[in-house]
Amino acid sequence: MTITSAMPKAKERKRRIRTKRVSSLPAIKLSQLRPSHIDLRNPLKAVLVCVDCGTWVPITGMQGTVQKLVPHHTGKAYVDAAIRCRSSNRRVEFDMTIPEWCRALTDAVKEASSRQSTAVLPKAFSPQTDRTLRARAERTPAGRRADWNAVLPRVADTDKNRRSIPAGDAPTEGPAVPLDTLRPQRPAR
Ligand SMILES: [Zn+2]
Repeated sequence: MTITSAMPKAKERKRRIRTKRVSSLPAIKLSQLRPSHIDLRNPLKAVLVCVDCGTWVPITGMQGTVQKLVPHHTGKAYVDAAIRCRSSNRRVEFDMTIPEWCRALTDAVKEASSRQSTAVLPKAFSPQTDRTLRARAERTPAGRRADWNAVLPRVADTDKNRRSIPAGDAPTEGPAVPLDTLRPQRPAR
């Protein structure tokens, strides 16, 4: 297929939409998005990255009671195919104030920059782990043989205890076991 001009292209995203239609999908909460995926610098031109299509979408109704994403296509305007995003008209819940978003964004940026500049140091071992690893590193064949020799008397003791049979051949507790063999007999005629 070579003819592409007939295919509809994604439309420009208008900031003001007059439809009262609201998506049945649950509202997008600002607190659930990454601060860098929200732009509230100009509150009347608020935009966020749509959780469905991953593109920047204007929020409409900033001065009204209901804020929602404008109806939009999933791709870039005039470039991609006109596929309607399922998050069109989806409500946006402002569970975060603009100063809170600012702070979260600053923290995220700070965190990211510190992550880049700081070398990751290996985590310190606990004293117990440290001792174990040290001992393991110091073990030599001779040391291993000495360890085994040290433990041998205890192994021999355990083996001896296992071999010894307790006095008496019947359990001291529990019901008596019948010793007579029962044989079925034909009834006398
Ligand atoms: Zn979308």
